[in-house]
Amino acid sequence: MLRKLLTQTSSRRLLSSGVPPLFSKSTISPFSSLSSSPEPPSSESPAVEHPGTTISIDRSSLYTPPDHSHESTPDSELVKHLKSIIKFRGGPISVAEYMEEVLTNPKAGFYMNRDVFGAQGDFITSPEVSQMFGEMIGVWTVCLWEQMGRPERVNLVELGPGRGTLMADLLRGTSKFKNFTESLHIHLVECSPALQKLQHQNLKCTDESSSEKKAVSSLAGTPVHWHATLQEVPSGVPTLIIAHEFYDALPVHQFQKSTRGWCEKMVDVGEDSKFRFVLSPQPTPAALYLMKRCTWATPEEREKMEHVEISPKSMDLTQEMAKRIGSDGGGALIIDYGMNAIISDSLQAIRKHKFVNILDDPGSADLSAYVDFPSIKHSAEEASENVSVHGPMTQSQFLGSLGINFRVDALLQNCNDEQAESLRAGYWQLVGDGEAPFWEGPNEQTPIGMGTRYLAMSIVNKNQGIPAPFQ
Ligand code: SAH
Repeated sequence: MLRKLLTQTSSRRLLSSGVPPLFSKSTISPFSSLSSSPEPPSSESPAVEHPGTTISIDRSSLYTPPDHSHESTPDSELVKHLKSIIKFRGGPISVAEYMEEVLTNPKAGFYMNRDVFGAQGDFITSPEVSQMFGEMIGVWTVCLWEQMGRPERVNLVELGPGRGTLMADLLRGTSKFKNFTESLHIHLVECSPALQKLQHQNLKCTDESSSEKKAVSSLAGTPVHWHATLQEVPSGVPTLIIAHEFYDALPVHQFQKSTRGWCEKMVDVGEDSKFRFVLSPQPTPAALYLMKRCTWATPEEREKMEHVEISPKSMDLTQEMAKRIGSDGGGALIIDYGMNAIISDSLQAIRKHKFVNILDDPGSADLSAYVDFPSIKHSAEEASENVSVHGPMTQSQFLGSLGINFRVDALLQNCNDEQAESLRAGYWQLVGDGEAPFWEGPNEQTPIGMGTRYLAMSIVNKNQGIPAPFQ
Protein backbone atom coordinates (compact mmCIF):
# COMPACT_ATOMS: atom_id res chain seq x y z
CA MET A 1 0.00 0.00 0.00
CA LEU A 2 2.75 2.42 1.01
CA ARG A 3 4.72 1.60 -2.13
CA LYS A 4 1.64 2.20 -4.28
CA LEU A 5 1.09 5.57 -2.67
CA LEU A 6 4.68 6.62 -3.24
CA THR A 7 5.13 5.46 -6.81
CA GLN A 8 1.85 6.42 -8.45
CA THR A 9 2.45 9.40 -10.71
CA SER A 10 0.48 12.53 -10.10
CA SER A 11 2.26 15.54 -11.48
CA ARG A 12 0.12 18.40 -10.25
CA ARG A 13 2.84 20.97 -9.88
CA LEU A 14 5.67 19.35 -11.77
CA LEU A 15 4.50 21.35 -14.71
CA SER A 16 3.93 24.67 -13.13
CA SER A 17 6.18 25.39 -10.21
CA GLY A 18 9.44 26.60 -11.76
CA VAL A 19 11.92 27.79 -9.15
CA PRO A 20 10.06 28.51 -5.95
CA PRO A 21 10.63 31.60 -3.84
CA LEU A 22 12.87 30.68 -0.97
CA PHE A 23 11.83 32.53 2.15
CA SER A 24 10.20 30.28 4.69
CA LYS A 25 9.42 31.66 8.14
CA SER A 26 12.47 29.91 9.54
CA THR A 27 14.92 30.94 6.80
CA ILE A 28 17.07 33.18 8.94
CA SER A 29 15.57 33.64 12.31
CA PRO A 30 16.17 36.61 14.55
CA PHE A 31 14.92 34.61 17.53
CA SER A 32 16.96 34.04 20.63
CA SER A 33 16.65 30.68 22.32
CA LEU A 34 16.71 30.59 26.06
CA SER A 35 20.36 29.64 26.12
CA SER A 36 21.42 32.39 23.75
CA SER A 37 19.10 35.15 24.84
CA PRO A 38 21.06 38.38 24.69
CA GLU A 39 20.77 40.78 27.59
CA PRO A 40 18.71 43.57 26.04
CA PRO A 41 20.02 47.10 26.34
CA SER A 42 18.42 49.02 29.15
CA SER A 43 16.54 52.27 28.91
CA GLU A 44 14.92 54.49 31.48
CA SER A 45 11.41 54.09 32.89
CA PRO A 46 9.12 56.80 31.63
CA ALA A 47 5.58 57.31 32.87
CA VAL A 48 2.95 57.03 30.18
CA GLU A 49 0.00 59.34 30.59
CA HIS A 50 -3.50 58.49 29.49
CA PRO A 51 -6.56 60.65 29.93
CA GLY A 52 -7.66 60.11 33.51
CA THR A 53 -4.88 57.65 34.41
CA THR A 54 -1.18 57.73 34.94
CA ILE A 55 0.56 54.42 34.75
CA SER A 56 4.14 54.01 35.78
CA ILE A 57 5.76 51.77 33.27
CA ASP A 58 9.03 50.00 33.88
CA ARG A 59 11.02 49.99 30.65
CA SER A 60 14.24 48.86 32.24
CA SER A 61 15.95 46.08 30.37
CA LEU A 62 13.55 46.25 27.46
CA TYR A 63 14.83 46.04 23.95
CA THR A 64 14.19 49.29 22.15
CA PRO A 65 13.74 48.59 18.45
CA PRO A 66 15.75 50.74 16.07
CA ASP A 67 13.91 53.87 15.04
CA HIS A 68 11.90 52.98 11.97
CA SER A 69 10.52 56.40 11.35
CA HIS A 70 10.26 57.45 7.78
CA GLU A 71 7.87 59.99 6.39
CA SER A 72 4.86 59.96 8.67
CA THR A 73 1.87 58.36 7.01
CA PRO A 74 -1.73 58.50 8.26
CA ASP A 75 -2.64 55.71 10.66
CA SER A 76 -4.22 52.66 9.01
CA GLU A 77 -7.62 51.41 10.22
CA LEU A 78 -5.89 48.70 12.24
CA VAL A 79 -3.45 51.14 13.87
CA LYS A 80 -6.38 53.39 14.83
CA HIS A 81 -8.21 50.37 16.23
CA LEU A 82 -5.20 49.20 18.28
CA LYS A 83 -4.64 52.71 19.62
CA SER A 84 -8.27 52.99 20.60
CA ILE A 85 -8.14 49.69 22.52
CA ILE A 86 -5.08 50.95 24.42
CA LYS A 87 -6.74 54.30 25.06
CA PHE A 88 -10.06 52.97 26.30
CA ARG A 89 -8.45 50.13 28.25
CA GLY A 90 -6.51 52.88 30.00
CA GLY A 91 -3.19 51.10 29.52
CA PRO A 92 -1.05 48.85 27.36
CA ILE A 93 -2.23 45.56 25.83
CA SER A 94 -0.43 42.22 25.93
CA VAL A 95 1.78 41.16 23.04
CA ALA A 96 -0.74 38.32 22.54
CA GLU A 97 -3.66 40.70 22.13
CA TYR A 98 -1.60 42.81 19.72
CA MET A 99 -0.66 39.68 17.73
CA GLU A 100 -4.22 38.42 17.59
CA GLU A 101 -5.57 41.75 16.34
CA VAL A 102 -2.77 42.11 13.79
CA LEU A 103 -3.35 38.64 12.33
CA THR A 104 -7.08 38.05 12.61
CA ASN A 105 -8.92 41.32 13.13
CA PRO A 106 -12.01 40.72 10.96
CA LYS A 107 -11.61 43.96 8.99
CA ALA A 108 -7.88 44.45 8.62
CA GLY A 109 -6.04 41.41 10.01
CA PHE A 110 -3.05 40.18 8.01
CA TYR A 111 -4.71 36.88 6.99
CA MET A 112 -8.24 38.12 6.56
CA ASN A 113 -8.49 39.69 3.13
CA ARG A 114 -5.79 38.33 0.86
CA ASP A 115 -3.51 35.55 -0.28
CA VAL A 116 -0.27 36.01 1.65
CA PHE A 117 1.64 32.98 0.32
CA GLY A 118 4.19 32.49 -2.45
CA ALA A 119 6.39 34.78 -4.56
CA GLN A 120 3.86 37.61 -4.69
CA GLY A 121 2.98 37.20 -1.05
CA ASP A 122 4.97 37.43 2.15
CA PHE A 123 6.38 33.95 2.80
CA ILE A 124 6.46 30.40 1.49
CA THR A 125 5.31 27.22 3.23
CA SER A 126 6.19 23.55 2.58
CA PRO A 127 2.94 22.62 0.78
CA GLU A 128 3.59 25.53 -1.61
CA VAL A 129 7.17 24.39 -2.18
CA SER A 130 6.36 20.91 -3.46
CA GLN A 131 3.40 18.59 -3.99
CA MET A 132 5.44 15.93 -2.19
CA PHE A 133 4.72 17.55 1.17
CA GLY A 134 0.92 17.09 1.02
CA GLU A 135 1.41 13.65 -0.49
CA MET A 136 3.58 12.53 2.42
CA ILE A 137 1.01 13.86 4.91
CA GLY A 138 -1.46 11.75 2.91
CA VAL A 139 0.73 8.70 3.55
CA TRP A 140 0.68 9.54 7.27
CA THR A 141 -3.12 9.81 7.36
CA VAL A 142 -3.66 6.55 5.45
CA CYS A 143 -1.24 4.72 7.79
CA LEU A 144 -3.04 6.01 10.88
CA TRP A 145 -6.44 5.21 9.36
CA GLU A 146 -5.17 1.63 8.88
CA GLN A 147 -4.05 1.53 12.52
CA MET A 148 -7.49 2.81 13.52
CA GLY A 149 -9.01 -0.32 11.91
CA ARG A 150 -10.15 1.40 8.68
CA PRO A 151 -13.22 3.18 10.10
CA GLU A 152 -16.00 3.87 7.60
CA ARG A 153 -16.39 7.47 8.68
CA VAL A 154 -13.58 9.82 9.66
CA ASN A 155 -13.41 13.57 10.21
CA LEU A 156 -10.25 14.86 8.56
CA VAL A 157 -9.66 18.28 10.11
CA GLU A 158 -7.06 20.77 8.91
CA LEU A 159 -6.32 23.77 11.09
CA GLY A 160 -5.30 26.87 9.10
CA PRO A 161 -5.22 25.36 5.59
CA GLY A 162 -3.82 28.49 3.85
CA ARG A 163 -4.46 28.06 0.14
CA GLY A 164 -5.74 24.49 0.63
CA THR A 165 -2.70 23.14 -1.21
CA LEU A 166 -1.74 20.51 1.38
CA MET A 167 -5.26 19.08 1.44
CA ALA A 168 -5.51 19.11 -2.37
CA ASP A 169 -2.22 17.19 -2.70
CA LEU A 170 -3.29 14.80 0.06
CA LEU A 171 -6.56 14.04 -1.74
CA ARG A 172 -4.90 13.63 -5.14
CA GLY A 173 -2.21 11.43 -3.63
CA THR A 174 -4.65 9.14 -1.83
CA SER A 175 -7.44 9.14 -4.44
CA LYS A 176 -6.71 5.53 -5.50
CA PHE A 177 -7.52 4.34 -1.96
CA LYS A 178 -11.25 4.50 -2.31
CA ASN A 179 -12.06 2.99 1.08
CA PHE A 180 -9.98 5.72 2.68
CA THR A 181 -11.25 8.69 0.67
CA GLU A 182 -14.86 7.50 0.91
CA SER A 183 -14.58 7.52 4.69
CA LEU A 184 -13.54 11.18 4.80
CA HIS A 185 -15.47 14.24 5.84
CA ILE A 186 -13.13 17.19 5.52
CA HIS A 187 -13.40 20.02 8.03
CA LEU A 188 -11.31 23.10 7.39
CA VAL A 189 -10.80 25.44 10.34
CA GLU A 190 -10.08 28.81 8.80
CA CYS A 191 -10.73 32.32 10.08
CA SER A 192 -10.07 34.13 6.81
CA PRO A 193 -12.98 34.52 4.35
CA ALA A 194 -10.48 35.24 1.54
CA LEU A 195 -8.55 32.03 2.22
CA GLN A 196 -11.77 30.02 2.60
CA LYS A 197 -12.63 31.05 -0.96
CA LEU A 198 -9.20 30.06 -2.22
CA GLN A 199 -9.49 26.69 -0.45
CA HIS A 200 -12.87 26.15 -2.11
CA GLN A 201 -11.28 26.81 -5.53
CA ASN A 202 -8.16 24.74 -4.99
CA LEU A 203 -10.09 21.74 -3.70
CA LYS A 204 -12.24 22.06 -6.83
CA CYS A 205 -15.39 22.21 -4.75
CA THR A 206 -18.92 22.37 -5.97
CA ASP A 207 -21.50 23.69 -3.56
CA GLU A 208 -23.89 21.00 -2.47
CA SER A 209 -26.76 23.30 -1.63
CA SER A 210 -27.23 27.00 -1.20
CA SER A 211 -24.98 26.78 1.87
CA GLU A 212 -21.50 28.18 1.21
CA LYS A 213 -20.20 26.24 4.19
CA LYS A 214 -20.93 22.83 2.67
CA ALA A 215 -19.37 21.58 -0.52
CA VAL A 216 -17.96 18.49 -2.24
CA SER A 217 -14.39 18.34 -3.47
CA SER A 218 -14.24 16.82 -6.93
CA LEU A 219 -10.64 15.73 -6.24
CA ALA A 220 -11.90 12.71 -4.33
CA GLY A 221 -15.66 13.19 -4.02
CA THR A 222 -15.34 14.15 -0.35
CA PRO A 223 -17.65 16.55 1.50
CA VAL A 224 -15.90 19.69 2.75
CA HIS A 225 -17.08 21.97 5.58
CA TRP A 226 -15.65 25.22 6.89
CA HIS A 227 -15.49 26.41 10.52
CA ALA A 228 -13.97 29.32 12.37
CA THR A 229 -12.80 27.20 15.33
CA LEU A 230 -12.11 23.56 16.20
CA GLN A 231 -14.99 23.61 18.72
CA GLU A 232 -17.41 24.01 15.79
CA VAL A 233 -16.28 20.75 14.17
CA PRO A 234 -18.79 18.00 15.06
CA SER A 235 -17.41 15.44 17.52
CA GLY A 236 -18.29 11.80 18.15
CA VAL A 237 -16.52 10.56 15.01
CA PRO A 238 -12.92 9.24 14.75
CA THR A 239 -10.80 12.24 13.89
CA LEU A 240 -7.54 13.00 12.09
CA ILE A 241 -6.22 16.51 12.67
CA ILE A 242 -3.47 18.23 10.69
CA ALA A 243 -1.90 21.47 11.89
CA HIS A 244 0.85 22.68 9.59
CA GLU A 245 2.20 26.13 10.39
CA PHE A 246 -0.92 26.85 12.43
CA TYR A 247 0.47 26.95 15.95
CA ASP A 248 3.08 29.57 15.01
CA ALA A 249 0.24 31.98 14.22
CA LEU A 250 -1.36 31.61 17.65
CA PRO A 251 -0.81 34.57 19.99
CA VAL A 252 2.07 34.51 22.46
CA HIS A 253 2.55 36.33 25.75
CA GLN A 254 6.07 37.42 26.62
CA PHE A 255 7.43 37.67 30.15
CA GLN A 256 10.61 39.16 31.42
CA LYS A 257 12.32 38.87 34.80
CA SER A 258 12.79 42.23 36.45
CA THR A 259 13.56 43.49 39.94
CA ARG A 260 9.82 43.04 40.60
CA GLY A 261 9.86 39.39 39.50
CA TRP A 262 8.19 38.22 36.29
CA CYS A 263 6.56 41.08 34.37
CA GLU A 264 4.56 40.75 31.18
CA LYS A 265 5.82 42.62 28.13
CA MET A 266 3.06 44.84 26.75
CA VAL A 267 2.42 47.11 23.77
CA ASP A 268 1.73 50.76 24.47
CA VAL A 269 1.60 54.03 22.54
CA GLY A 270 4.48 56.41 23.25
CA GLU A 271 4.39 60.19 23.42
CA ASP A 272 5.51 60.27 19.78
CA SER A 273 2.29 58.36 19.00
CA LYS A 274 4.22 55.23 17.96
CA PHE A 275 3.81 51.76 19.41
CA ARG A 276 6.44 50.67 21.90
CA PHE A 277 7.08 47.86 24.34
CA VAL A 278 6.68 48.39 28.07
CA LEU A 279 6.58 46.09 31.08
CA SER A 280 3.30 45.59 32.91
CA PRO A 281 3.24 47.43 36.22
CA GLN A 282 1.03 44.78 37.85
CA PRO A 283 0.46 41.02 37.60
CA THR A 284 -1.45 39.90 34.51
CA PRO A 285 -3.80 36.88 34.07
CA ALA A 286 -1.43 35.12 31.67
CA ALA A 287 1.02 34.75 34.58
CA LEU A 288 -0.98 31.66 35.62
CA TYR A 289 -0.05 30.00 32.33
CA LEU A 290 3.55 31.12 32.85
CA MET A 291 3.62 29.36 36.22
CA LYS A 292 2.21 26.22 34.65
CA ARG A 293 4.76 26.33 31.82
CA CYS A 294 7.58 26.79 34.33
CA THR A 295 6.59 23.58 36.12
CA TRP A 296 7.29 21.74 32.86
CA ALA A 297 10.72 23.33 32.41
CA THR A 298 13.89 21.35 33.06
CA PRO A 299 16.10 22.45 35.98
CA GLU A 300 18.69 23.79 33.50
CA GLU A 301 16.02 25.80 31.71
CA ARG A 302 14.72 27.18 34.99
CA GLU A 303 18.17 28.39 35.96
CA LYS A 304 18.64 30.35 32.75
CA MET A 305 15.16 31.82 32.38
CA GLU A 306 15.20 35.59 31.95
CA HIS A 307 12.65 35.98 29.20
CA VAL A 308 9.90 33.46 28.41
CA GLU A 309 7.34 33.25 25.64
CA ILE A 310 4.18 31.23 26.23
CA SER A 311 1.06 30.58 24.20
CA PRO A 312 -2.03 29.90 26.35
CA LYS A 313 -4.11 29.63 23.15
CA SER A 314 -1.83 26.81 21.95
CA MET A 315 -2.14 25.06 25.32
CA ASP A 316 -5.95 25.34 25.27
CA LEU A 317 -6.19 24.23 21.64
CA THR A 318 -4.00 21.20 22.38
CA GLN A 319 -6.22 20.26 25.31
CA GLU A 320 -9.29 20.46 23.10
CA MET A 321 -7.57 18.28 20.48
CA ALA A 322 -6.40 15.72 23.04
CA LYS A 323 -9.84 15.44 24.65
CA ARG A 324 -11.43 14.86 21.23
CA ILE A 325 -8.87 12.28 20.19
CA GLY A 326 -9.07 10.66 23.62
CA SER A 327 -12.82 10.17 23.37
CA ASP A 328 -13.42 9.81 19.60
CA GLY A 329 -10.23 7.98 18.49
CA GLY A 330 -7.75 9.03 15.86
CA GLY A 331 -4.78 11.35 16.05
CA ALA A 332 -3.22 14.70 15.27
CA LEU A 333 -0.10 15.72 13.40
CA ILE A 334 1.54 19.01 14.23
CA ILE A 335 4.35 20.30 12.02
CA ASP A 336 5.87 23.68 12.62
CA TYR A 337 9.12 25.49 13.20
CA GLY A 338 9.96 25.52 16.85
CA MET A 339 12.02 23.91 19.57
CA ASN A 340 11.90 20.96 21.90
CA ALA A 341 12.55 23.46 24.71
CA ILE A 342 11.04 26.45 26.44
CA ILE A 343 11.11 29.48 24.14
CA SER A 344 12.73 32.72 25.13
CA ASP A 345 11.89 35.40 22.58
CA SER A 346 11.04 34.35 19.05
CA LEU A 347 8.22 36.59 17.87
CA GLN A 348 9.04 37.85 14.38
CA ALA A 349 7.44 39.87 11.60
CA ILE A 350 7.82 39.07 7.90
CA ARG A 351 6.70 41.25 5.03
CA LYS A 352 7.40 40.45 1.39
CA HIS A 353 10.02 37.84 2.28
CA LYS A 354 11.95 40.12 4.66
CA PHE A 355 12.08 40.44 8.44
CA VAL A 356 10.66 43.76 9.61
CA ASN A 357 9.98 45.46 12.94
CA ILE A 358 7.12 43.82 14.88
CA LEU A 359 5.54 47.17 15.68
CA ASP A 360 5.89 48.64 12.21
CA ASP A 361 2.68 49.05 10.15
CA PRO A 362 0.73 46.25 11.89
CA GLY A 363 -1.48 44.15 9.60
CA SER A 364 0.90 44.49 6.65
CA ALA A 365 3.32 41.81 7.90
CA ASP A 366 2.94 38.29 9.22
CA LEU A 367 3.63 37.80 12.91
CA SER A 368 4.68 34.37 14.06
CA ALA A 369 6.51 32.70 16.91
CA TYR A 370 8.47 29.51 17.45
CA VAL A 371 6.33 26.62 18.65
CA ASP A 372 7.00 25.31 22.14
CA PHE A 373 6.72 21.54 21.57
CA PRO A 374 7.14 20.42 25.21
CA SER A 375 4.19 22.62 26.14
CA ILE A 376 2.05 20.85 23.50
CA LYS A 377 3.13 17.45 24.83
CA HIS A 378 2.38 18.31 28.47
CA SER A 379 -0.94 20.01 27.64
CA ALA A 380 -2.12 16.93 25.71
CA GLU A 381 -1.04 14.50 28.41
CA GLU A 382 -2.72 16.62 31.06
CA ALA A 383 -6.01 16.79 29.12
CA SER A 384 -6.59 13.10 28.46
CA GLU A 385 -5.32 9.81 29.85
CA ASN A 386 -6.31 8.15 26.61
CA VAL A 387 -3.74 9.82 24.40
CA SER A 388 -0.03 9.36 23.88
CA VAL A 389 2.32 11.95 22.42
CA HIS A 390 5.16 11.11 20.01
CA GLY A 391 8.07 13.23 18.87
CA PRO A 392 9.05 15.83 18.09
CA MET A 393 11.30 14.60 15.33
CA THR A 394 12.72 16.76 12.58
CA GLN A 395 10.72 17.25 9.39
CA SER A 396 13.61 15.64 7.57
CA GLN A 397 13.38 12.45 9.66
CA PHE A 398 9.59 12.49 9.42
CA LEU A 399 9.42 12.80 5.63
CA GLY A 400 12.42 10.52 5.17
CA SER A 401 10.88 7.72 7.24
CA LEU A 402 7.58 8.03 5.40
CA GLY A 403 9.42 7.47 2.11
CA ILE A 404 9.94 10.84 0.42
CA ASN A 405 13.08 9.49 -1.27
CA PHE A 406 11.01 6.87 -3.11
CA ARG A 407 8.50 9.52 -4.06
CA VAL A 408 11.05 11.95 -5.48
CA ASP A 409 12.63 9.09 -7.48
CA ALA A 410 9.24 8.14 -8.91
CA LEU A 411 8.54 11.73 -9.92
CA LEU A 412 12.02 12.21 -11.42
CA GLN A 413 11.36 9.26 -13.78
CA ASN A 414 8.59 11.23 -15.44
CA CYS A 415 9.76 14.78 -15.93
CA ASN A 416 11.85 17.04 -18.13
CA ASP A 417 15.07 18.83 -17.09
CA GLU A 418 13.35 21.97 -15.85
CA GLN A 419 10.90 19.96 -13.77
CA ALA A 420 13.74 17.85 -12.40
CA GLU A 421 15.57 20.97 -11.23
CA SER A 422 12.42 22.24 -9.56
CA LEU A 423 11.84 18.86 -7.90
CA ARG A 424 15.39 18.72 -6.53
CA ALA A 425 15.10 22.28 -5.21
CA GLY A 426 11.76 21.46 -3.57
CA TYR A 427 13.09 18.23 -2.12
CA TRP A 428 16.02 20.10 -0.57
CA GLN A 429 13.76 22.75 0.88
CA LEU A 430 11.64 20.09 2.57
CA VAL A 431 14.38 17.87 3.96
CA GLY A 432 17.71 19.73 3.67
CA ASP A 433 19.58 21.73 6.27
CA GLY A 434 20.88 25.15 5.19
CA GLU A 435 21.82 26.11 1.63
CA ALA A 436 21.61 23.44 -1.08
CA PRO A 437 25.20 22.39 -1.93
CA PHE A 438 24.26 21.31 -5.46
CA TRP A 439 22.70 24.63 -6.49
CA GLU A 440 24.14 26.24 -9.63
CA GLY A 441 21.44 28.85 -10.28
CA PRO A 442 21.29 32.47 -9.08
CA ASN A 443 22.47 32.95 -5.49
CA GLU A 444 19.32 34.68 -4.34
CA GLN A 445 17.33 31.62 -5.35
CA THR A 446 19.47 29.08 -3.51
CA PRO A 447 17.09 26.58 -1.89
CA ILE A 448 17.35 26.70 1.89
CA GLY A 449 16.39 23.55 3.76
CA MET A 450 13.60 23.55 6.33
CA GLY A 451 14.34 19.93 7.24
CA THR A 452 15.77 20.47 10.71
CA ARG A 453 14.12 23.70 11.81
CA TYR A 454 10.66 22.25 11.36
CA LEU A 455 9.59 19.58 13.81
CA ALA A 456 6.80 16.99 13.70
CA MET A 457 4.81 15.77 16.69
CA SER A 458 1.83 13.45 16.92
CA ILE A 459 -0.92 13.01 19.51
CA VAL A 460 -2.87 9.76 19.13
CA ASN A 461 -5.49 7.77 20.94
CA LYS A 462 -3.61 5.03 22.82
CA ASN A 463 -5.79 2.36 21.12
CA GLN A 464 -4.07 3.22 17.87
CA GLY A 465 -0.61 2.24 19.12
CA ILE A 466 2.41 4.25 18.01
CA PRO A 467 1.80 6.17 14.78
CA ALA A 468 4.07 5.93 11.73
CA PRO A 469 6.86 6.99 11.52
CA PHE A 470 7.40 7.54 15.25
CA GLN A 471 7.85 3.81 16.01
N1 SAH B 1 -1.17 25.49 6.64
C1 SAH B 1 -0.97 26.43 5.57
C2 SAH B 1 -1.09 27.91 5.99
C3 SAH B 1 -0.27 28.35 7.17
S1 SAH B 1 -0.52 30.06 7.56
C4 SAH B 1 0.34 26.18 4.88
O1 SAH B 1 1.17 25.48 5.42
O2 SAH B 1 0.54 26.69 3.77
C5 SAH B 1 -1.72 30.03 8.86
C6 SAH B 1 -3.12 29.67 8.46
O3 SAH B 1 -3.92 29.66 9.64
C7 SAH B 1 -3.81 30.62 7.53
O4 SAH B 1 -4.70 29.88 6.72
C8 SAH B 1 -4.58 31.54 8.47
O5 SAH B 1 -5.63 32.24 7.88
C9 SAH B 1 -5.04 30.54 9.51
N2 SAH B 1 -5.27 31.10 10.84
C10 SAH B 1 -4.42 31.86 11.57
N3 SAH B 1 -4.93 32.12 12.80
C11 SAH B 1 -6.13 31.48 12.85
C12 SAH B 1 -7.14 31.36 13.85
N4 SAH B 1 -7.01 31.94 15.03
N5 SAH B 1 -8.24 30.64 13.58
C13 SAH B 1 -8.39 30.02 12.38
N6 SAH B 1 -7.46 30.10 11.38
C14 SAH B 1 -6.34 30.83 11.61
